[in-house]
Amino acid sequence: MALYLILIGAPGAGKGTQADLLCREYGLAKVASGELFREHLQKETELGRLAKSYMDRGELVPDDVTIQMVTERLSRPDAARGAILDGFPRNLNQAEALDRFLAGRGEAIRGVFYIQVSADELMERLSGRWLCRAAQHAYHVRNHPPKVAGICDIDGSPLYQRDDDKPETVQRRIQVYLEQTAPLVEYYRNRGLLVEINGERSIEEVFSEIKGQLVGADVEPDQASSHPGP
Ligand code: AMP
Repeated sequence: MALYLILIGAPGAGKGTQADLLCREYGLAKVASGELFREHLQKETELGRLAKSYMDRGELVPDDVTIQMVTERLSRPDAARGAILDGFPRNLNQAEALDRFLAGRGEAIRGVFYIQVSADELMERLSGRWLCRAAQHAYHVRNHPPKVAGICDIDGSPLYQRDDDKPETVQRRIQVYLEQTAPLVEYYRNRGLLVEINGERSIEEVFSEIKGQLVGADVEPDQASSHPGP
């Protein structure tokens, strides 16, 4: 059985950073819906243009196109051993669609890590966040600065700030999260899948807690892609 895990949490909780670490540690595919949309934006595809109008307002992109994009990504060969889902599902309809998609392949979600961070800390993190152009590796001016200013440590590409990390849009994204995504916590808790993680600690501490929870989950660190630490 493949290992499908979900990271759930407000924008800025650290889902993307932890997803990168987990994927490298266990050799799983990262399936991050926001990243997929930003790739479409960069390539100026039709989907990118559609998504931009929602992203700029901090609203969710419609479910039909989002579900189609994510299930297509999950169907690629690199996700056959499993995937870390970051930013998807974001509402009940998407969660049910994901369950149906995996059930159709004889698979299921094996765990949901709910990364909790206070509202003040979220605002602080988002306003100082920088991403790399090549692969969207995340940095923070204070908590996790790159070794060379403006350059990604991992792939050397330039860093940029997301348009939707400006304060007005951040407010709306957090509101959308509370209204539409937060109910998923109960959905997964009721299924016995939810693991609550205190996200207000260092990247390394959060990562080792998540790894600790995966001990016995029939997943081995991936020798080829494993690395000594962030
Ligand atoms: P993120 O990078 O996860 O913060 O996502 C950035 C933006 O992409 C969100 O504010 C939404 O506009 C859009 N988006 C990402 N994931 C989803 C999703 N699962 N459903 C709908 N819209 C999404």
